[in-house]
Amino acid sequence: MGHLDLKAVTKSFGDMEVIRPTDLHIADGEFVVFVGPSGCGKSTMLRMIAGLEEITSGKIEIDGRVVNNLPPVKRAISMVFQSYALYPHMSVYENIAFPLRVAKAPEAEVKQKVQRAAEVLKLTERLDHKPGALSGGQRQRVAIGRAIVREPKVFLFDEPLSNLDAALRAEMRVELKRLHGQLKNTMIYVTHDQIEAMTMADKIVVLQGGVIEQVGSPLELYHKPISRFVAGFIGNPN
Ligand code: ADP
Ligand code: MG
Repeated sequence: MGHLDLKAVTKSFGDMEVIRPTDLHIADGEFVVFVGPSGCGKSTMLRMIAGLEEITSGKIEIDGRVVNNLPPVKRAISMVFQSYALYPHMSVYENIAFPLRVAKAPEAEVKQKVQRAAEVLKLTERLDHKPGALSGGQRQRVAIGRAIVREPKVFLFDEPLSNLDAALRAEMRVELKRLHGQLKNTMIYVTHDQIEAMTMADKIVVLQGGVIEQVGSPLELYHKPISRFVAGFIGNPN
């Protein structure tokens, strides 16, 4: 559960086509990283998959079902953004529980799911704290907790670590990989950071100017880049 297909998907803003016709298959449980320079269309791609942005033409399928006309909440997808807003007056527990409260989940289910998310994210000891009493990394984990608590099949990240310092970023990269190992859901992760792409991805999608330049494993892209652009971006000077 959690495979995804883009079929001839395009996106235009006015008469500017920012995503050219794009085909892409993402398998169940894959950790896919979209990488490319600023403005190449990474966020637009994620937002279309999440249903936050309408596609101009083509089809998006999740588990073989066309989702073009489904609103975000019906897509079994959760998204974590670069700038995440926690509710400062609510405890960590209530911040994580929020999406379940909106969905009117019964109390027993809320409790069980929040505790499970907190365990996975090592936040069990912090559930009674307010966000103001947490470190940057812990706050980011609460934001991730809020996204995983509904147990989505597909998990989208848009540069979730870019506001953290280098040491925390490195730590969170490891944590996210661990999380993926435990949840085994499909993760699509957007970054402009080549190191993140190379260290985290099962599959990397290199984007440039609204076009997928190459798709492959980190090793494939490193050893057989299709263009100078990919070679340069992935960091192999040859
Ligand atoms: P990235 O996330 O890779 O930096 P984006 O997906 O944010 O790139 O943007 C891709 C292109 O689409 C850019 O040229 C950007 O200016 C344009 N764009 C994004 N959102 C909008 C919008 N709401 N209206 C008009 N143009 C947009
Ligand atoms: Mg972006």
